[in-house]
Amino acid sequence: MKADKVVPVKKNEKHTVKIEDLTHEGMGVARIQGYSLFIENALPGEQVEVKIHKTGKSFGYAKVLNRLNSSEDRVVIQDENYTRVGITPLQHMRYPAQLNFKKQQVINSMQRIAKLPEVPVYDTIGMANPSGYRNKAQIPVRKINDKLTTGFFRKNSHEVIPMENFYIQDPKIDETIIAVRDIMREYGVKPYNENENTGNLRHIIVRRGYYTGEIMIVLVTRTAKLFPTSKIIPDILEAIPEVVSIVQNVNPKHTNVILGDDAIVLYGEDKYRDTLLGNTFEISHRSFYQVNPQQTEKLYQTVLDFAELTGEETVIDAYSGIGTIALTLAKNAKHVYGIEIIEPAVENAKANAELNNIENVTFEAGAAEEVMVQWSEEGRTADLLVVDPPRKGLEKEFTEAVIAMQPTKMVYVSCNPATLARDLALLTEGGYTVKKVQPVDLFPQTTHVESVALLVRN
Ligand code: SAH
Repeated sequence: MKADKVVPVKKNEKHTVKIEDLTHEGMGVARIQGYSLFIENALPGEQVEVKIHKTGKSFGYAKVLNRLNSSEDRVVIQDENYTRVGITPLQHMRYPAQLNFKKQQVINSMQRIAKLPEVPVYDTIGMANPSGYRNKAQIPVRKINDKLTTGFFRKNSHEVIPMENFYIQDPKIDETIIAVRDIMREYGVKPYNENENTGNLRHIIVRRGYYTGEIMIVLVTRTAKLFPTSKIIPDILEAIPEVVSIVQNVNPKHTNVILGDDAIVLYGEDKYRDTLLGNTFEISHRSFYQVNPQQTEKLYQTVLDFAELTGEETVIDAYSGIGTIALTLAKNAKHVYGIEIIEPAVENAKANAELNNIENVTFEAGAAEEVMVQWSEEGRTADLLVVDPPRKGLEKEFTEAVIAMQPTKMVYVSCNPATLARDLALLTEGGYTVKKVQPVDLFPQTTHVESVALLVRN
């Protein structure tokens, strides 16, 4: 590329362009003299008139003024606000096209990042009804027009747009948020003011068991003093009888992080239940639990299918959360060892083993990278290693420990194709072959991609 390359467009100019591609964030890509423009709500094949609204050295952003033709993959969007707040960046795309977009992202990562173009990537496993699936909502509370209001943040901003129907959330959760909001209004609870770090109610979190119907409500407040709980609790229970747990989480800090360190249980215990593939799970307000239960079952079934267990295997489940994958595999293995960093999740995992009468599991609290290094140095090994790390993927020490430990098989569950591909390249150098990758759509209408990869030691 030439260093003196000039930017061929200026802010506020209008251009007519053709969309050629999509970014991994689902934005349309058009090119003017080789200069890339990223455009929201535009699909490949569409001819659009745009206005340039931001230019950088090597790419810029533009907004659609007029669409001259519509892609076959386009559907009528549900609500402009969903695009504004960014909860459904793919809402303008037909669902089969979304599934294909996700598969293509995995293929691109396998080719460009992992340099493993030969690995088979299967069609994305989708949902029959790709809306109303989220079992958890974290809703900011602010004062708007002098009223305590719930909604969602405008993209890249701290401004709350009032919303009642979130489209991708379990409708029962939307209903619960409105009921709680109305009760809070009735008792004059002060909404949080982010600019001044004053007021009190910051977030309403609602989690619901898909199979059990049990609901947990978490009220995140700035100070421990809240409201007349003796009135509010009975009112909430009357409005939403499925509520089994109400927790107040106190977060005094001026921060974007939702949860604070202290919690007060206002009703029930700090847990609710759900089931997955026949096992029951207790979940506390701090524990990670996959947000799309129907698709999680398909994800775990894929892990089971890839694992091909006979009942004789020693299994390690790293990043085990509340033990969902470990307990799913335990029925077909000799013993499963889980590793998880969040203590309350480990406590949930141990309780969940007991709850389901599963005895061949052990859960260790600690950083997976440290525990794996230690186990590898102690000469321990496994027939199967399952990993399900956060978006940043595996730590280098972890991957090195795997290569030293040499488990026969590995199943990698990933929510980020880029870090998956990076790690698969390292593991391939370390003596593993990637056999196949199965994308599963856990987050319809969003650009998130979940996938499961099978690796076997050479
Ligand atoms: N397998 C579980 C959880 C996956 S989410 C499930 O399907 O529900 C990733 C989990 O990794 C979270 O529970 C998170 O708390 C945990 N985690 C994050 N960093 C970790 C680390 N360094 N070591 C161990 N666990 C970690």
